Amino acid sequence: MGIQDLVIIMGKLYPRLPVSTGLLLSYRCNIKCDHCIYACSPKWKNSWISEADAKTILTQLSTIFSKTCTLRMPYVSFNYGLHLTGGEPFLNFKLLVRITEIAKELDIPSILVETNCFWAREDESASKKIIKLREAGLDGILISINPFNVKYIPFERLERAVRISREIFGINAIVYQEFFFNVLKEIKLENKITYDEYLIKIQKSNIYRYIELLPMGRAAYALKHLYNKYPASYFFSESCKEELTRGWHTHIDNYCNYIPGFCAGISLGDARSLQSIFEGIDLEQRPILKALSNKIEDLYEIGKYFGYKDNAQGYVSKCHLCLDIRRYLVKKTEEFYELNPKEYYLNFS
Ligand code: SF4
Ligand code: SF4
Repeated sequence: MGIQDLVIIMGKLYPRLPVSTGLLLSYRCNIKCDHCIYACSPKWKNSWISEADAKTILTQLSTIFSKTCTLRMPYVSFNYGLHLTGGEPFLNFKLLVRITEIAKELDIPSILVETNCFWAREDESASKKIIKLREAGLDGILISINPFNVKYIPFERLERAVRISREIFGINAIVYQEFFFNVLKEIKLENKITYDEYLIKIQKSNIYRYIELLPMGRAAYALKHLYNKYPASYFFSESCKEELTRGWHTHIDNYCNYIPGFCAGISLGDARSLQSIFEGIDLEQRPILKALSNKIEDLYEIGKYFGYKDNAQGYVSKCHLCLDIRRYLVKKTEEFYELNPKEYYLNFS
């Protein structure tokens, strides 16, 4: 028996204790990026995590992190401790500040917020927001910069947010991805640019080869033209046991779903009772998790049972196949608790 096998014992799945978790305050976002794993957009209703749920969850996370995050480092990372995310957390700035305060009171390590910086319209108001968060206990900020959000966010706002955040947080102002930030500066971007225009601008340089892009979530559909495609059977033998049980960069959404890694739309259970999840998930009660922790072919068979038909154009990744089947299943039946939140599937576009 190898270490990989220890995550399933006697028909129960045992996720590892998290070393890093993102709290999605909401799925609502002011923009709709083509690469968004969580399919966030303005279409989502204005639903946010309640302060009471956040406190319940963060209190338990604090106890877990006291065991898993034993190093207190001077710099933040979104693979260590807590990141506050969404959707766009700055759309509900008051709640963001309050949750930051709660996390700090609970001594949670590496409290970071991830943002697209739509709010950095001018220096004074942008500084005030960042200072307010730092005073509430925020340890750092992660500024998302990529060829997809500059379709909507004027580049000058991103540059402003980077400049001011670095003044306030120093090395704890992270640009993700720094590579794109440099390319966008290099092409002297003013205002906004679509992804197609971006590709034309950079085509001579070949740097498009360095795009880091997860072929899952909305990207599997909106950007499928960028990838090779394969028939469903190409992915049949792959198992997701590791992704479902990993302890790094897990997520909890505003509906209190505990989400494995980047597997949006899959819930391992109610995060208000984290202990019950780590005590083992009965796979007989969760057929989709059982299938995915064995091999993708098992999920495909469940899909077929409900009438799922293969996508004639093929699939860009196992996650594309998985999501395509799950989207179909949610429309056909409500029997799979682990396919949550339902809104993820219903709002998917
Ligand atoms: S800014 Fe972030 S949350 Fe909003 S659509 Fe883009 S990737 Fe998704
Ligand atoms: S195939 Fe599904 S369960 Fe596996 S990693 Fe991708 S999204 Fe997650």
